Amino acid sequence: MKNRDQPEVDLKNGILYGTLKQIRLGTDVDPESPNLLQTWVCTIQPKNSKALISLLKQNYDDEPRIRHLKRLTKVGDHIKAIICPYEEESQRNEISNSLRSLEYDDLEVIKVPRDQASTRETTLKWSSIWPLTWKGNPNHQFLNTVKFDMTQERQMVNELLSYLEQTNNSDSSVTVMAKEVDNKIAIQTVALNKGERHPSQHSVMKAIDAIARNENNQRKDGKQERGYLCTDMIVYTTHEPCVMCSMALVHSRIVRCTYLKPVSPGGGMESSYYLGDLDGLNWKFQIWRWLGEPELSRLNEAVDNVRLEY
Ligand SMILES: [Zn+2]
Repeated sequence: MKNRDQPEVDLKNGILYGTLKQIRLGTDVDPESPNLLQTWVCTIQPKNSKALISLLKQNYDDEPRIRHLKRLTKVGDHIKAIICPYEEESQRNEISNSLRSLEYDDLEVIKVPRDQASTRETTLKWSSIWPLTWKGNPNHQFLNTVKFDMTQERQMVNELLSYLEQTNNSDSSVTVMAKEVDNKIAIQTVALNKGERHPSQHSVMKAIDAIARNENNQRKDGKQERGYLCTDMIVYTTHEPCVMCSMALVHSRIVRCTYLKPVSPGGGMESSYYLGDLDGLNWKFQIWRWLGEPELSRLNEAVDNVRLEY
């Protein structure tokens, strides 16, 4: 078995179990100008630091959006401390209230780096805005902690290929949308495209439509109440989605997308804009390309290699 030599996590190439390759933009942020987050910050005398820390622990403890930031920093002979992310001006009263046992000089809203930096150098640069903690490359942390049940993943990919083979058409593409229920990945819909060129007929679009119709019906019955139609959805698709389909996945707020065949030109992920991993759009999701050889050769037997748009 070839896989035996491969490490579970290949940090350098972003490959898990020798089978799932992470597709990402890589240079996620401009080191010169980080994205910023507005936060409430108060100024205190150093002698009040201890009291403040215990207040923060009590009232503003676990906020993931500020975990990469040092909570306190020295400015001249004062201490500035981040209390929590800014949502709206009306928080001011509530915060003043929670700090009332403390002598503080000022309560203001300031902008701090929104993200963890991916290198130590960038961390240092951004720390001139507000000090950041460096705990190593965040993507490495992600790769080391993300977990896949590879038996299930392989099973889903093989199901996808079975649907593809059933179309008996080398111009076909197939998309499966699934959802994790009690640690099991359960298929919610399957969509096929037997070579239709128009994007509305692409398998990803058809799958999103099917989920949307289903959700809307359930909503009419009063069973569901959710803002976005495909939240929680895991997408398996034979081909890298085109730009239109990739944007539709972003708008649908899926959890992740795994595809087998890159499509260049035409694909909207690794072949062009990295839609799904792009900062500045309102949603990001994980993108993976399947590298498992038995499945790839099964795919290549079923589809035409010349076709370009899916
Ligand atoms: Zn498409």
